[in-house]
Amino acid sequence: MNHLPLPPGAGDAIIHHECQLAGWSGYLHRWLAAAAGYRTAGGDPWQVTPAAFSQTEAKELYVLYDRRRRYGDIAKIRRPAGGYRSCPMCGSGGTGVVDHALPRGEFPEFSVVRENLVPACPYCNSDAKGSTYRGTAPDERLIHPYYDTWASLPLWHVEFGPDLDALVFDAVPDGELPPARRATVAFHLGSVLGAEWRNSTTSYWGSLPRMMRVRLGLPVSVDAVRCELEMRLAEEEELSGPNAWRSAFLRGALRDQRVIAHLAAVAEATLAP
Ligand SMILES: [Zn+2]
Repeated sequence: MNHLPLPPGAGDAIIHHECQLAGWSGYLHRWLAAAAGYRTAGGDPWQVTPAAFSQTEAKELYVLYDRRRRYGDIAKIRRPAGGYRSCPMCGSGGTGVVDHALPRGEFPEFSVVRENLVPACPYCNSDAKGSTYRGTAPDERLIHPYYDTWASLPLWHVEFGPDLDALVFDAVPDGELPPARRATVAFHLGSVLGAEWRNSTTSYWGSLPRMMRVRLGLPVSVDAVRCELEMRLAEEEELSGPNAWRSAFLRGALRDQRVIAHLAAVAEATLAP
């Protein structure tokens, strides 16, 4: 989850190029209109009008991505020169995959439209999300990394259940968000965070007391743990972005006094390395 500038090659060059090929000239005006509509709607699936292509034409558009995915500007979306701080869709540490913000099965006309091609990680394609792109109410949709500029702000945190030994937790939108944006963030979290996020969070939680013990020595005070968490949060937000998995975890931990006290007590009882 993050805001990104539009990718290299955004615009209609690819449409003009393809439509010079034999048999494609009849696509030009409908295709350009669809791409213009996508930009006007900011990729919002509730605003975009599906283009009027026949089933045969839609199939041609769908497979176009397979022909072009490894080359040119699409390859640069996958692996840009400077890399990404974290997965712009789900916030994991992985990247290296291109995903369709609006799935090409439903919207084949955007199969190679750059604004619809967003960087993601392998979990995004294979884990919870699948081909989900919207819910049942107008604000329920995925965050679009190119158009939702507000995605560069902190949007969510981890909330912990009553029994910290059993560690039940969930991902929740930040309370300060306006209702419509909150609905979008809630839908996004429910769609992109799956088993990999749960495993990663559980593993990080399990490693924290020992790290605290090593860093802080004895006795392990609640104030020292809070300072340590704040320091780690500042570092994660800078390195991975405010909506990366660990950033959201650490923000949630710092909101909950029980969590800080629990970490201090477990760190205190942890044997020195
Ligand atoms: Zn991802």
